[in-house]
Amino acid sequence: MMMQGKTGLIMGMANKFSIAYGIAESLKVNGAKMIFTAQTDYFKSKITDIAKDFGGYEVIPCDVSKDDEIEKAFDEMLNITGPLDFIVHSIAFSDRNELAGKYYNTSRSNFLNAMNISCYSFTEVARHSQKLMPNGGSLVTLTYYGAEKVVPNYNVMAMAKAALETGVIYLADDLGEVGIRVNAISAGPIKTLAASGVGEFSKILEFERHRAPLKRNVTQKDIGDACLFILSDMASGITGEIIHVDCGSNKIGVKF
Ligand code: NAD
Repeated sequence: MMMQGKTGLIMGMANKFSIAYGIAESLKVNGAKMIFTAQTDYFKSKITDIAKDFGGYEVIPCDVSKDDEIEKAFDEMLNITGPLDFIVHSIAFSDRNELAGKYYNTSRSNFLNAMNISCYSFTEVARHSQKLMPNGGSLVTLTYYGAEKVVPNYNVMAMAKAALETGVIYLADDLGEVGIRVNAISAGPIKTLAASGVGEFSKILEFERHRAPLKRNVTQKDIGDACLFILSDMASGITGEIIHVDCGSNKIGVKF
């Protein structure tokens, strides 16, 4: 029960296949209570029943691309839950038409939108987190290996993740003095709504499975349990890290 007595916010659960769902499961098993935000009313209706199992709080609407929506959601939340101990940011977006083919065909509008939703939103979450976590706490975002090395079709999302990862170290430095730790989990590929938008995703799954020392793809539970550790007091000295949870595949180059 590593999270007994702790309450947190989960942003980015779309359904039971979401990475955020796996994270919420691991946290729940270990005693945490959670409140959720949803991008739209459609997603809110999809996750309202699921959210009941994790603390019973009402799902708060929050489209992170809209000015002031994060601050408004956080204010509402503070009234409902009181101070929080952790926040999970599990959000990304790109036009799926641009997650295939050459990266240089990325449009300016999709580049900016992908950066806005997938990267800038975490900066804004971090800024406002001080109000929600006056006693310190822990922030985690989700990234992918495509930020480090070329992965076919990941394209603009790789730019957003590279900026997100750099943001993690700057935010860790900014927020360390108020006792807020900031880390990212670089998750191996896992079939979700967002991932299905990446061209030839099943080939990426197969390639990573072949490369991985553990000879398999990651599961929601693998990612959830690693996130549990990094959000818990067990990781009290860890901040500014990109932690790979990918069955070791990022350590392997070519494998015949
Ligand atoms: P998912 O589709 O289940 O979750 C993505 C979430 O982003 C959805 O809940 C969606 O509503 C939310 N979102 C998109 N635009 C938003 C907006 N404007 N405002 C608020 N929310 C918005 O997919 P997932 O794979 O669980 O993705 C979660 C995170 O994990 C993403 O950051 C993704 O890049 C990252 N990730 C995924 C994989 C993978 O293979 N699935 C691997 C590494 C990292």
